[in-house]
Amino acid sequence: MDGTTATAREIPPPLQMLQLISGFWIARCIYVLAKLGLADLIKDEPQTADDLAAATATHGPSLFRVLRALASVGVITQDDRNRFGATPLSETLRDVPGSIRAFAMTELGEEHYPAWGELLHSVRTGGIAFDKAFGEPVWEFFAKNPDNAKIFNDAMSGMTAQANATLHAVYDFAGSNKIMDVGGGHGGLITSILEKNPGMTGILFDSPQVIAGAQAKIETSAVADRCETVGGDFFQSVPSGADTIILKWIIHDWNDEQSVAILKNCHQALPENGKLILVEAVVPATSEPHFSKFIDLNMLVMTGGRERTEAEFRQLYEDSGFKLSRIVPTESPFSVIEGVKA
Ligand code: SAH
Repeated sequence: MDGTTATAREIPPPLQMLQLISGFWIARCIYVLAKLGLADLIKDEPQTADDLAAATATHGPSLFRVLRALASVGVITQDDRNRFGATPLSETLRDVPGSIRAFAMTELGEEHYPAWGELLHSVRTGGIAFDKAFGEPVWEFFAKNPDNAKIFNDAMSGMTAQANATLHAVYDFAGSNKIMDVGGGHGGLITSILEKNPGMTGILFDSPQVIAGAQAKIETSAVADRCETVGGDFFQSVPSGADTIILKWIIHDWNDEQSVAILKNCHQALPENGKLILVEAVVPATSEPHFSKFIDLNMLVMTGGRERTEAEFRQLYEDSGFKLSRIVPTESPFSVIEGVKA
């Protein structure tokens, strides 16, 4: 601290509260940056708002004001000729594989934002805010709106690419012969596991329309000859044949009853001693800051799901015929929660 920086304690509480309240203004500006693909347009050299407006068919003077605000919080730079340039932060929104641009789009604009607008509805009724905002459950909405679904699936792929490295750094899948990723989206996780384990085969399982979108990615991947794809509904059944089932960011979409139904179907598909691996945030039982406490609210508003504590995971495993064997934390907010068929 250099003596000129005010500590949180010195900022008057009303001002601190205003800073918290205006967090969503920043978030909405980031949405505009992501949606218009501006991070790519400024990647090589700084551009004026008018040039960027011409390239994106937007209104220059208004765009200028958004960019000026974003520069003021360090998302982009602004030079003395009012040209806006890239920063490591804006680079994360480039239109490249593994970027979080699509996540910013789905989260801050397309679906999650309107759902968060109905948070109070969830708090008042226990209902699902998304369903109130959109008139139907999120997975039905995505099934009917392929453009939105594409952004969502790209968002998941981008986040998965971010999470994969932290996962492989702490968890070795080598003990398995055949692994199935249930609700595996476009296959970013299963292909990375198979790439690391040349002797292993895999199954990617998701809803038929998601599998249709994943097909080309799997076929052109380095593990195409070792990865089957199957479309279906995990509430009906999941394919058998794998000795290990992984579900990443699935169980947090569902309430306990629905989660047990999915896990029982996994139980049925696994052989004796089969392994179950969940990748989810584990909510600390204490009051410390942890990202899981906000992802939990994202689930509350989007799907009626939840993030869970270790004790809650233990109970869920027990209720669906598994024994939780260990929890391996990663550098990300997500842990590997491993269990065996009891
Ligand atoms: N595991 C992926 C995707 C998580 S998003 C990842 O970590 O990136 C949740 C996934 O569950 C979506 O791909 C969605 O299509 C899938 N899903 C939702 N309901 C389903 C159902 N009834 N049967 C199969 N998959 C379903």
